[in-house]
Amino acid sequence: MKMQQSILIVEDEESILDILAYSLRKERYIVHGATTGEAALSLFQGTEIDLVILDLMLPDTTGFELCKKIKATSNLPVMMLTARDDIVDKILGLELGADDYMTKPFDVREVNARVKALLRRPSNGQSINYLAVNEEIRIIPNSHTVLKNEEPVAMKPKEYELLLLFAQHKNRVFSREEILDTIWAMDFEGGLRTVDVHVQRIRKKLGSSIIETVFGTGYKMSGY
Ligand code: CA
Repeated sequence: MKMQQSILIVEDEESILDILAYSLRKERYIVHGATTGEAALSLFQGTEIDLVILDLMLPDTTGFELCKKIKATSNLPVMMLTARDDIVDKILGLELGADDYMTKPFDVREVNARVKALLRRPSNGQSINYLAVNEEIRIIPNSHTVLKNEEPVAMKPKEYELLLLFAQHKNRVFSREEILDTIWAMDFEGGLRTVDVHVQRIRKKLGSSIIETVFGTGYKMSGY
């Protein structure tokens, strides 16, 4: 079991971000900060996170939108920060799925106490942080498992690594050379065909549209 839990704070007001990060680090949490929705999502996809603190008004998105995206692919507890009292009903409303909220200005001691409570909730006992490939397929990095419609799919190690690489960098086109360098590195035998063969195997197991061929360039996975 992991000793230190990690918290992602998404807040564009850096003074607030700093205060929160400071007080949560003092409580021995690992803290990741993001000031935009985009930065938050890329952190969220590549990092183990146990809880998210989310500001409502962000420069490139809203906390609502971000909360929906996070809840679509994980069961992580989300605490919303808002300057407005009147939208509290919406925050705790059905669709948005935030687990708690704080209105600004807040007392950091209260934030700490609520964070502790959220992390202790039994439903988060196994906080599964998964990566959604599409509506059917999820990757659970902690256990190197791939689920298709919630059923595990047997993957060879290199197939898994390749799938994870694409899933962590959606919409990015990778050349075969890049893929070989990243996944095979030193233990590379065979040519660029190795990449094609593995992509074929992944498509066979998970569906042909999962990894797209970008003609003349390489492969990519489209965002969903
Ligand atoms: Ca804000």
